[in-house]
Amino acid sequence: MDKIKRFIDCYIPTETCNFRCQYCYIAQHRKFNNKVAKFIYSPDYIGKALSKERLGGVCMLNLCAGGETLIAEEVIDVTEKILEEGHYVMIVTNGSLTDRFKRIAKFPKKLLNHLFFKFSFHYLELKRMNIIDNFFDNIDMMKNAGASFTVEITPNDELEPYIDDIKRISMERLGTLPHITIGRKDSEDIPPLTQHKWEDYIKIWEQFDSNLFKFKESIFGIKRTEFCYAGLWSGYLNLVTGDLRQCYCGIKIDNIYEDINRPIKFLPIGNNCTMPHCYNGHAFLSFGDIPELDTPSYDILRNRKCKDGKEWLTKDMRKFMQSKLKESNEELDEINKKKINKKVKKKILLSKIKGKVIRK
Ligand code: SF4
Ligand code: SF4
Repeated sequence: MDKIKRFIDCYIPTETCNFRCQYCYIAQHRKFNNKVAKFIYSPDYIGKALSKERLGGVCMLNLCAGGETLIAEEVIDVTEKILEEGHYVMIVTNGSLTDRFKRIAKFPKKLLNHLFFKFSFHYLELKRMNIIDNFFDNIDMMKNAGASFTVEITPNDELEPYIDDIKRISMERLGTLPHITIGRKDSEDIPPLTQHKWEDYIKIWEQFDSNLFKFKESIFGIKRTEFCYAGLWSGYLNLVTGDLRQCYCGIKIDNIYEDINRPIKFLPIGNNCTMPHCYNGHAFLSFGDIPELDTPSYDILRNRKCKDGKEWLTKDMRKFMQSKLKESNEELDEINKKKINKKVKKKILLSKIKGKVIRK
């Protein structure tokens, strides 16, 4: 049975979308600039750069763009190559680009079994464009092809009058309710995206009984001070350039495309996380980047049982998502943790000085 060796969060530098969600992070930065990621390296090369040997085992790679992930068509071939390497892949999508799903449905069954979609349910945009049925048809297409999926809503105050409609449609088309995430503003302390008081916000959205929401609520706003293995057990990779960072904060630790015949350089961030809170901890923390934290496994946050008894995750995907990073990686002792912290602090300082010099 496959166990997760590393979780690699892959950024695809597409900064455009066929939707215009009012709460979108690119919209918050006025970045709808029609930029579609252009892959410099071939899917074959990217697959080799991310081989099981280089990564040390079977990994989970999450593919997410700054806009709609599947707009850049090359993402499909890259996904296929990564799956052929033996890894598991998650794709974050708004579920609207039917021709892309038709191509993916032709992947061999074995690969589809290792593929998972996070379908973001942007109800107001789907309604505005009159494509709600199209969205659910695409989910059905991927389900029938043998892939796993989850359906997730980004809660926002404008959506509240439509909660009953969303529940009704979801029960009709999915046989269950969607999961709920927590929207965030991209300002300094990354607060939740709502005008409500926190307790009221929780009350409104907890009616979906979503494990994802419950877990995100439990970690939202909590600054992480523990030793975090991001940079070693997980990474944040620009899939186009190959730049690998420890996490959303921290330093660049390697470029994985420069020489694909040498091992990748990993370096954990340790106690140096500068983020105000771990807003994507539903992945990083539930896979176990901070092993002493008691968290639900990732499958619990993504799966749903439908009224016909079927589940959103295939059996293999569920088992893989149940595994934790500490099962395939060794924890460091206190002496080595201290050494790592010293090394990382020094590197952060150096990169700050370098940044200042470049700016000058
Ligand atoms: S679908 Fe996603 S990327 Fe597109 S506008 Fe909505 S939130 Fe932004
Ligand atoms: S605590 Fe979360 S945000 Fe901070 S480095 Fe670890 S995984 Fe990244």
